[in-house]
Amino acid sequence: MSEHIIIMGGGVIGLSVAFELQSRGYQTTVLEMARCGGQASGAAAGMLAPYSENVEGPDPFFQLCLDSLRLYPDWIGRVRERSDVTFEYSESGSLYLSYHEADRLALEGRLLWQREHGSTGAIIDGPDLFDMEPLLSRQVKAALYTPEESHLYAPDYVRALEDACRSTGGAIHEQLGRVSVLEWRNGIVLEAQDGRRFSGDRLVVCSGAWAQELAETFDLPLPIYPIRGQICAYALDDVAGDVDGKAVRHMLFGNQGYLVAKANGTLVCGASEDVAGFDTSVTERGIERLRGWNKQAIPALENCAPFHQWAGLRPSTQDGYPFLGGLDPAAQVMFAAGHYRNGILLSPITAKLVADRIENKALPSYYSYFAPGRFDMS
Ligand SMILES: Cc1cc2nc3c(=O)[nH]c(=O)nc-3n(C[C@H](O)[C@H](O)[C@H](O)COP(=O)(O)OP(=O)(O)OC[C@H]3O[C@@H](n4cnc5c(N)ncnc54)[C@H](O)[C@@H]3O)c2cc1C
Repeated sequence: MSEHIIIMGGGVIGLSVAFELQSRGYQTTVLEMARCGGQASGAAAGMLAPYSENVEGPDPFFQLCLDSLRLYPDWIGRVRERSDVTFEYSESGSLYLSYHEADRLALEGRLLWQREHGSTGAIIDGPDLFDMEPLLSRQVKAALYTPEESHLYAPDYVRALEDACRSTGGAIHEQLGRVSVLEWRNGIVLEAQDGRRFSGDRLVVCSGAWAQELAETFDLPLPIYPIRGQICAYALDDVAGDVDGKAVRHMLFGNQGYLVAKANGTLVCGASEDVAGFDTSVTERGIERLRGWNKQAIPALENCAPFHQWAGLRPSTQDGYPFLGGLDPAAQVMFAAGHYRNGILLSPITAKLVADRIENKALPSYYSYFAPGRFDMS
């Protein structure tokens, strides 16, 4: 009989891990406190942007992000094959904007090292830039174009993953309240709030910003914190004016935010980074700050108001790296949590690495940087 693996948390990470393991012949059960995709994963802008998100240099986290981006086309194909839920996946490319001549040097420096890591990007300026993005502010002096970056529509992607898990025979239980770990040293036993118990051979903790709650259970420091992201959406038609074709064609990044146009006719603009505990409310100040940056990038937004605003809790960690790997030498308990701003991007590689570790396959050299026990000084 195949191993039975319990997965705590039904966000993009838990569902991706479940889908990968089901595909490899394991039996999985996802235990979700509320609704699958109801937290950070359903709130995300869905950008798959390792180059724009990692501006300092090619550290292990960048490598992880890049490997995940490269898995995406095949991964998307596999999810689509097993799910009836359709979702947008667009290889749009991105533009990282700079407003000052002096910032061009920084863009050029970034391009140099990113080219060594697969980018075919270029610095674009003048009329070429405005041909690519007609609505862009003429205050933008130059942009780093990265054709490799893409995006998807996160709420639908998560629904498709959920459907793909079920269609491959995975069990998913929702509305369980906070699930707790009763036993993990000799077999796995978890308990839902109504007293229902679930047992298995192995546990993968994918509970996002809530993973910190397991520090006492495992007697391990787990510095994972929620960082609220407030985000909003405009109707693209309100912005387009007389521009032919799609009004905003690439993902637009700046050092204060991003804009990404979706196939459903919305322009998604994110996102704040607030320390607000587990509070997911939207504040007037948060959205006003976003609107300030948005109209700096696209002046036509001056006269538009977002029709939708929401917020989610990114699972941030003390050192910015996710917790990925086994707790014990046999990896009976594994962690896949703390993906902060890049959990959608990192979903395929996380699923692959969890499954490869379970199967004792060769792991990339950067894997050890994400060890869940790295803060344990005892
Ligand atoms: C505004 C915003 C924009 C973002 N944009 C992007 C983006 O463009 N690209 C990108 O790659 N990433 C983006 N992110 C980050 C991304 O959303 C997260 O990194 C990712 O969703 C984390 O996934 P997760 O499954 O670990 O967490 P979650 O989606 O939070 O899922 C964790 C799940 O665990 C459940 N849970 C918690 N505790 C328990 C328990 N005790 N028992 C049972 N279940 C439990 C929760 O209910 C939740 O459903 C964004 C995030 C935000 C907030």
